[in-house]
Amino acid sequence: MHKKITIVGAGNVGTTTAQLIAEKNLADVVLIDVVEGIPQGKAIDIQEACPLWQSSVKVTGTNSYDDTANSDIIVVTAGLARKPGMSRDDLLQANARIIREVAENIARTSTQAIIIVVTNPMDAMAYLTQRVTNFPHNRVIGMGGVLDSTRMRSFIAQGLNIFPKDVQTIVLGSHGDLMVPLPRLTMAGGKRITDILSESKIKMIIERTKNGGAEIVGLLKTGSAYYAPAASVVEMIEAILGIKNDPLPCSVYLDGEYGVKGVYLGVPIRLSSRGVDKIIELELTEDENQAFIASAEAVRGLIKKIKVL
Ligand code: NAD
Repeated sequence: MHKKITIVGAGNVGTTTAQLIAEKNLADVVLIDVVEGIPQGKAIDIQEACPLWQSSVKVTGTNSYDDTANSDIIVVTAGLARKPGMSRDDLLQANARIIREVAENIARTSTQAIIIVVTNPMDAMAYLTQRVTNFPHNRVIGMGGVLDSTRMRSFIAQGLNIFPKDVQTIVLGSHGDLMVPLPRLTMAGGKRITDILSESKIKMIIERTKNGGAEIVGLLKTGSAYYAPAASVVEMIEAILGIKNDPLPCSVYLDGEYGVKGVYLGVPIRLSSRGVDKIIELELTEDENQAFIASAEAVRGLIKKIKVL
């Protein structure tokens, strides 16, 4: 029997995530949205591709949370995306209202689900989702670090003309302007990038990583990135399903880890069928630690501003 994954929000990130789940034959998918017809139409379209992918999953679309009942995993992508010139934080109040309603419905219909929060500003929305559902912290996780890290890997691989699989990196902290890339721990072709790339080149890669989302928003003009975000969500789903087991940077509730308490922030974790299995505590340098704390304070500031909390 397939697991059941609900995707809330049948927009760009939601439907691309649904497509990848179906294509990889990972789980049955329910797409839900407030707009009538869109989740149903997208679901039929994806379902019709399944024979060609040799996939046996069921894909359905709905406007009713009753159809999402007892989901194993719920991916929350409902909400507004950025427009050119907007930061992720500009979406705070509008998306908080949407997330509150979504979280109330999830808590009513899928009490045992693991929730992956994608909607921006993601760390604050993950916090809000946990508070509204009152689910254990290990079952509410935000997606941000996987995306920021894959962006950085891709820029390094392009810069060095090597395969992305030979680049390992990790981006910690908030999924926002104060994210914390760690060049010190970034390896390319078995070597530290700090040994093979100039300081100015590394600075450029870090800046491009921090602006990775804005770069795409600026070009698209009417939406934000969704292929790499959806692939990042699926990476987390595969870890939850036990198909992959590498540690991943995800936004989780910190209760003293890294010296931070009471916010959601990106750190390396191990995922399993229980959700967050383990938070991995890396030793940070003084500068990295300061950047991490600044990131935590920025998220704390956003959380304080949420009117529907
Ligand atoms: P989109 O506009 O394409 O899709 C959003 C969908 O949400 C729409 O179909 C809309 O009808 C639906 N929606 C709105 N209110 C809803 C509600 N109350 N219940 C159910 N559905 C509702 O946007 P997108 O590009 O898919 O992005 C979705 C969100 O994900 C945005 O907030 C964006 O900023 C965020 N995002 C986060 C990351 C990340 O790394 N965390 C990456 C990309 C996008």
